[in-house]
Amino acid sequence: MLPDLAQLQQAYAELQAKGLKLDLTRGKPSAEQLDLAEPMLALPGVGVHTDETGTDVRNYGGLDGGITIRRIFAELLDVPVEQLLAGGNASLTTMHDVVAFAELFGFPDSPKPWAREEKVRWICPVPGYDRHFTICEAFGIEMIPVPMTADGPDAEAVAALVATDPTIKGMWVVPTYSNPDGAVISADVARALVSMPAAAPDFRILWDNAYAVHHLTDDEVTSPNAIALAAESGHPDRVLLFASTSKITFAGAGVSFLGSSAANIAWFKKHLSVASIGPDKLNHLRHAMFFGSADGVRDHMRKHRAILAPKFEAVVEILTERLGGYGIASWTEPKGGYFVSLDVAPGTAARVVQLAKEAGIALTPAGATHPYGKDPQDQNVRLAPSMPPLEEVRTAMDGVATCVLLAAAEAAQA
Ligand code: PLP
Repeated sequence: MLPDLAQLQQAYAELQAKGLKLDLTRGKPSAEQLDLAEPMLALPGVGVHTDETGTDVRNYGGLDGGITIRRIFAELLDVPVEQLLAGGNASLTTMHDVVAFAELFGFPDSPKPWAREEKVRWICPVPGYDRHFTICEAFGIEMIPVPMTADGPDAEAVAALVATDPTIKGMWVVPTYSNPDGAVISADVARALVSMPAAAPDFRILWDNAYAVHHLTDDEVTSPNAIALAAESGHPDRVLLFASTSKITFAGAGVSFLGSSAANIAWFKKHLSVASIGPDKLNHLRHAMFFGSADGVRDHMRKHRAILAPKFEAVVEILTERLGGYGIASWTEPKGGYFVSLDVAPGTAARVVQLAKEAGIALTPAGATHPYGKDPQDQNVRLAPSMPPLEEVRTAMDGVATCVLLAAAEAAQA
């Protein structure tokens, strides 16, 4: 039984009286995490500007990106180095460019540029990453939600849609510690997605491995090698893999990566070469020197974990303590990544976010985890505890729990 409404209103009034100003909206690294990479700012150092091939990284050229950082991430992402490009600071830009190039020029196996198709549709696992949805929306791509499961997107639902509808040109997948529900795709689901028959000859999966090495526990999972599985199943060009060091070094000054089949990489480079003579190879060298090896990245990520894990533990602990047993909410306990996905009483997510806002706690807008910002159940709230200090995470989550209870009690009275 929920506490009664008057009691919860009183608790909420006390929460408001605290005059909080807290923010759990976006998955940004904290200053403490950014500090971990601070020594990188002294690299490569005055007078050091050639990479292992003798290339002067200060100059134009080298569209593929620095070889050393590519080799390090080729190992971490399990992609052959010759099929992995290193680029600028945002993998989101590369995802956007892939869709933009497909719209303008089509893939080599596209009957025509997507922009000339009457309709282009796209599978969006929900809950999902709002900026993926924004890319689709910006290009007028119609989004079809399919449910996420603990093992990744509902592969049966996806296969049924993709098999018969040639307007469905692609889908998003966040294979490791997905945003926001922390799911890691299973080998079976990965295999099903890369091998399913597709009515569109140029169907693509944008495999956004943003959290490949972002573990929160000793169980350092790896998601299946989708590029290799796709090739084995006769769809070598189906998967384009994205990653970056945004949440490894600096969110605003990291290195992004694109991995795919040789044909897709050649296609991407052809169009990219019109826009760029080469990426920031100095930053690539700086990163390569800082890490030294793939193990250097792994060690560095354990330092992030030491900062992040207590914040995630606090979120789960407070939700369990305050909401457990009422049967009005459920939440994920991620083993990595940046988010906790909270499902509140159906029809109350927007109210929870509003109540939190009016108590000085900023949450990601309700609906953000769904295409067009519309959560049909008005149920899902994404929590991002990485940025505030631990004590603020605790205070904010206690406040959020009060809002979840009050919203549920209000709904029960209505
Ligand atoms: N992909 C996912 C799933 C994310 O959650 C984020 C950031 O939150 C990004 C990509 C952004 O990546 P980048 O900083 O490399 O553009």
